[in-house]
Amino acid sequence: MRKEAIALERHLRDCLLRASQTSNESERRSLLTVAIVGAGPTGVEMAATLADLLPYWYAKLSSKIDEIRIVLINHGKDILAGDVNAHLQDIALHAFKTRIVPIELLLGVSVKAVHGDRIEYQPAGGTTIATLKTQTTIWTAGTAVNPLIEHLSSQIPAEHRDRRGLPFVTPSLQLLGFPDVFAAGDCATAQGQRQPALAQVAYQQGAIIAHNLIALTRGAAPLSAQVKLRGTLMKLGLGNGVANLFDKVQITGKPADLIRNATYLEMLPTPLHDFKATTEWLKEELFHHYHKPKPVSQLTPQAIPLSPAERQQRTLVKALAILAPLAFLIAAYNGLQTPPAERLKPSSPTAGSLTKSPP
Ligand SMILES: Cc1cc2nc3c(=O)[nH]c(=O)nc-3n(C[C@H](O)[C@H](O)[C@H](O)COP(=O)(O)OP(=O)(O)OC[C@H]3O[C@@H](n4cnc5c(N)ncnc54)[C@H](O)[C@@H]3O)c2cc1C
Repeated sequence: MRKEAIALERHLRDCLLRASQTSNESERRSLLTVAIVGAGPTGVEMAATLADLLPYWYAKLSSKIDEIRIVLINHGKDILAGDVNAHLQDIALHAFKTRIVPIELLLGVSVKAVHGDRIEYQPAGGTTIATLKTQTTIWTAGTAVNPLIEHLSSQIPAEHRDRRGLPFVTPSLQLLGFPDVFAAGDCATAQGQRQPALAQVAYQQGAIIAHNLIALTRGAAPLSAQVKLRGTLMKLGLGNGVANLFDKVQITGKPADLIRNATYLEMLPTPLHDFKATTEWLKEELFHHYHKPKPVSQLTPQAIPLSPAERQQRTLVKALAILAPLAFLIAAYNGLQTPPAERLKPSSPTAGSLTKSPP
């Protein structure tokens, strides 16, 4: 994933550089157009972030930042449809309009082909094929089932799989017919309690599996996984987001972005990872080496560097602005933790044993 992200950044920077150097208008416009296919949460986050980031990068090369186009393409007529974030649609749509470059929506269309210099799509119910000239297409329209799972078709019968082909597991996350095999996260569907493919679900299920493995070695009954969604967090541009905590509290703007960053930092595997990522993040917040969003009217080529006095003043203000929310964020981390007692609820006495039963 990291490799792909770096490759995408290089490609985008290369497009911007070539756009700033060409006098061919059609070529320049296709270099400055980014198509994102799929208006689920990944497509929404990607579109909103690029609509802030690309103008900043391009402002260092050219004044024509208004030629940048970010086009979000979706098969359905609504963004975020069927997702846990569906109720945040209006907030996302508002964010689209208020990015440095407003995001264009192409909804209800079906992408038919992706080429290096264009994509072809068909409006729903239509017969004609339309073309969008672009040298960057980012595909965010769903994930594929892991090939390993697909290759297990002879061991896992069709009736033990959901419609995507993922194997069903019992509430205690044991594979049907193979109680000594556990599966969770994106590669399994818990019977009777289908969960969205989210990291927070995988984390909680992972903890239950660890507990159940120990329980089985001790001859104790495994526990049912009681996954609790703690809300959702979405990035809606640089320094902007929405945090929906426990479906009760909704926070938008910069505070939501801070909560999102802090929550992901909290999920890193070791304190060392945590320390390194926190340091990087705080450095970025203070110095904005990577990006520095500004309204279009203020963006002029080469206008980014600040004077030493301005930089010092800004650093001081930002340090104060970060320390105060940090105290709040630490409290928020604790609030977001699901107490272990809530996660571990006893399952029905019939669920699973160490004995392998026939498939
Ligand atoms: C672009 C994108 C954005 C997302 N954003 C969010 C978000 O903002 N919030 C959120 O909660 N969730 C998000 N998700 C979903 C989240 O990433 C997944 O739900 C979560 O990672 C699932 O965890 P997992 O352990 O089941 O699978 P994974 O995290 O995919 O881990 C599976 C691991 O198994 C390894 N593996 C695969 N096959 C084999 C094999 N044959 N042998 C050995 N190892 C193997 C893989 O390399 C990988 O390391 C996002 C997903 C995507 C794709």
